[in-house]
Amino acid sequence: MSHDWMSDALCAQVGPDLFFPEKGGNYRQAQQICARCPVRQDCAQAAAAHEGTSHRHLRHGAWGGLTPTTRTRQNRETA
Ligand code: SF4
Repeated sequence: MSHDWMSDALCAQVGPDLFFPEKGGNYRQAQQICARCPVRQDCAQAAAAHEGTSHRHLRHGAWGGLTPTTRTRQNRETA
């Protein structure tokens, strides 16, 4: 799978902290950035391919504007 899209990722301009918050943190600021990201769809698809049917606790970070909980739910709905 090509990762060429990563060169246009907005998160690369702000660093990973917002996208991988500490326990008790939230994804609000990350999701605001993702909402404006030109490669959001590629990012979400890459996360889905990488995570597969992983349990919620094995999913980390905001990808494509989606939280681990949301990605887990979407995976169940499309399975
Ligand atoms: S959609 Fe993906 S690549 Fe874009 S800012 Fe969000 S996490 Fe980064």
